Amino acid sequence: MEIFRAPRVTLIARPQFLEPEHLKVQWRGEASDGERLAEYAGRVCYMSQHNPVHRTTAEYLENIKQQGHGSVLEHSVYVLLIEGISRSCSHELVRHRAGFGYSQLSQRYVDESHAAFVMPPAILGDATLEAEWEREVTDAQAAYVRAVEALLERHAWVNDKVHRRKVAREAARSVLPNATEVKIVVSGNARAWRTMLELRCGEGAELEIRRMAVACLRTLRAEAGALFSDFEIYVADDKQEAARVSYHKV
Ligand SMILES: Cc1cc2nc3c(=O)[nH]c(=O)nc-3n(C[C@H](O)[C@H](O)[C@H](O)COP(=O)(O)OP(=O)(O)OC[C@H]3O[C@@H](n4cnc5c(N)ncnc54)[C@H](O)[C@@H]3O)c2cc1C
Repeated sequence: MEIFRAPRVTLIARPQFLEPEHLKVQWRGEASDGERLAEYAGRVCYMSQHNPVHRTTAEYLENIKQQGHGSVLEHSVYVLLIEGISRSCSHELVRHRAGFGYSQLSQRYVDESHAAFVMPPAILGDATLEAEWEREVTDAQAAYVRAVEALLERHAWVNDKVHRRKVAREAARSVLPNATEVKIVVSGNARAWRTMLELRCGEGAELEIRRMAVACLRTLRAEAGALFSDFEIYVADDKQEAARVSYHKV
């Protein structure tokens, strides 16, 4: 059985900025397409393409975040594949609605007989707790396999094989634990990501989603530093990573 002890976060799509020939900006400094796109949108508001105070993109976006002019950040959308998170973690994640889109593994269609499980951060490192937890999820998975077999038999009269499996799996999944691993594709614009990261990287957030949010922050910051540079990652008193933001929800 595969056990995840940390999430896996992969950037799978980023903005591509196509600058119009007839309305160009006098850029300064290096920047990614997503950062340029946000600056471009901001400069259209005031028609300041000539860059009167010679700001680099990083300086321009710093000012945007400070001013709370967050709507220009909505143009830059980043898509992450998040794996190695539990069903309870993804349930918390999908509560973030504005500016997000989700596609999550379906437990009705996918056979979970060989599903992976995600160990909660609070259990990690304690051999006794880890062993007990592994026993519990192994038992739950065995119960799932038994339930699928019995339900397939009970619904043998359903001719369509795909439908029969779905009927069995959608009922059997009820015995799977919250710790069952899911994979989810998450699209979010930079403003929405910032709001989610502020809430879920905080010390008040549940530990697993906090660990996931910090991993998302690292990925997004490596991709578009100027959009996420005001987040500071630190180790909190509970010895787990957290992050705080300088410019609140904009
Ligand atoms: C530490 C923590 C504990 C939590 N505990 C619980 C809990 O016990 N139970 C529970 O059910 N949830 C809980 N939540 C989830 C929380 O209630 C929110 O659902 C989640 O944080 C998403 O926030 P949001 O609604 O602001 O996000 P989004 O839906 O992404 O919205 C972002 C922003 O858009 C605006 N907005 C979005 N929709 C509307 C609307 N319909 N009308 C007006 N403005 C809107 C608001 O300004 C909102 O802040 C918890 C969250 C955290 C961080």
